[in-house]
Amino acid sequence: MAEIGLSKKLPAGLYIVATPIGNLGDISKRAKETLAGADLIACEDTRVTGKLLNAYLLKKPMIPYHEHNGALQRPRILAKIADGAAVVLVSDAGTPLISDPGYKLVDEAQSAGLMVTSLPGPSAVPTALSLAGLPTNRFLFMGFSPNKSKARQDWFSAEKNTEATLIFYESAKRLVASLRDAADTLGPRPAAVCRELTKKFEEVVRGNLEELADRYEASGPPKGEIVIVIGPGTKQSAGEASMINTDETLQLALKHMSVKSASAFVAELLGEKRKAIYSRALELSKTKDA
Ligand code: SAM
Repeated sequence: MAEIGLSKKLPAGLYIVATPIGNLGDISKRAKETLAGADLIACEDTRVTGKLLNAYLLKKPMIPYHEHNGALQRPRILAKIADGAAVVLVSDAGTPLISDPGYKLVDEAQSAGLMVTSLPGPSAVPTALSLAGLPTNRFLFMGFSPNKSKARQDWFSAEKNTEATLIFYESAKRLVASLRDAADTLGPRPAAVCRELTKKFEEVVRGNLEELADRYEASGPPKGEIVIVIGPGTKQSAGEASMINTDETLQLALKHMSVKSASAFVAELLGEKRKAIYSRALELSKTKDA
């Protein structure tokens, strides 16, 4: 896309514009020019975006676009674009659509054949990843963690054997409980608590999940916005986990059946090779007898 001059009329379309996650200097020249040239700015909260526009000395018509009014606003926004308007979508901070509203608007604009483009910029996810000092070749962004402990443990548990660095948003008040649930579910993996990124009190605290839970339990919940990054599970832990499951199932079966029947039953149940399960069942039955 050609560079957009200040306040020049923009081609009709939907412009997804990333805004700073804390430091107002983190906005691109092109993002500012696009905000300046927009006919309309769709934003989560007009007060928050109003302040941002003020900081860049811009005044623009805004409409609220969030999860509670999206269904109502989408056809209006799409009609304006079809009529020739350049509509910018921003969120309160960072990149729209990343744990923020917008994907349905993009989907419908794309499906309607309207021009959709993105002006990339700040987001808490890559910022935290770039500071955590954990592997980045493969990562899984998980959004916000669930509120309740049981749901959170299940949520971590589902990724126990995922060979990727895990990254998610967390609130300060849930930090300790969340680190504790992660430690109980995933074990003492290396992790980083990335707080207030790009702001005055930016802080990255690294340690294993247990150490981090202890530290924040002792100090009390910190202030500010938080991203947690957790080092990846390994093939080995996947293997160990499946062996534990196999062992538990076999041990249960061995209480009621012969080695031969137990291994045939468990092999079928777990979809494993009968020979491997049979040798494991033999080992287990010997340990049991010893
Ligand atoms: N769309 C945004 C982005 O691209 O990062 C994320 C929006 S989400 C509703 C807000 C969450 O992102 C916060 O609760 C916090 O977990 C994380 N976050 C945003 N800014 C942050 C910052 N400066 N430092 C640490 N975490 C931040």
